[in-house]
Amino acid sequence: EPTIGVLALQGDVREHLHALESAGTHAVSVRRTTELDRVDGLVIPGGESTTMSRLLGVFDLLDPLRARLKDGLPVYGSCAGMILLAGEVLDTRPDAVNFGALDITVRRNAFGRQVDSFEEDLDFAGVDGGPVRAVFIRAPWVEYAGPDVQVLAAVHRGGAEHAVAVRQGPVLATSFHPEVTGDLRVHRLFVDMVRESA
Ligand code: GLN
Repeated sequence: EPTIGVLALQGDVREHLHALESAGTHAVSVRRTTELDRVDGLVIPGGESTTMSRLLGVFDLLDPLRARLKDGLPVYGSCAGMILLAGEVLDTRPDAVNFGALDITVRRNAFGRQVDSFEEDLDFAGVDGGPVRAVFIRAPWVEYAGPDVQVLAAVHRGGAEHAVAVRQGPVLATSFHPEVTGDLRVHRLFVDMVRESA
């Protein structure tokens, strides 16, 4: 059984550990390089991408994580995690780091400053059993996705479609937070991705 880490610098770490354990895998928190070395997959949780980016520097995790991503480590980024995995980020701070593990451009806080959070049922490609209840909290959306990126779920706003769940090879990202709903299907999808790559 693979070991899946949850980046534990900031954000809703416990919810992801719990969801992963409930999905039947072994989950550990990751704060040091030695912990990162040991995992077969990694979740980057929601939180605040600019803060997490700064803490990755403080904990000397930027280069080690970059190296593991380059090696094809399976990763799942939720919300702030999606922002950190993106190739380009709009409306962020100039000093914020992003890893470019996904060929996407995301806009932070895309649903508007006054929209703190909302929920919506979404069809999610590759997830059986009906729509996924998606909880968005100051969420980004995907403004551009490259040709190698699969769009798994999208929301519609003002006649436009915005991707909110994407996959590119071993990298999965959602704008929303499946770890808070008790629906384990997105975590199961990621656990399957980690098993496949093992
Ligand atoms: N707005 C946050 C950011 O830009 C993301 C919010 C979240 O992760 N729930 O990092």
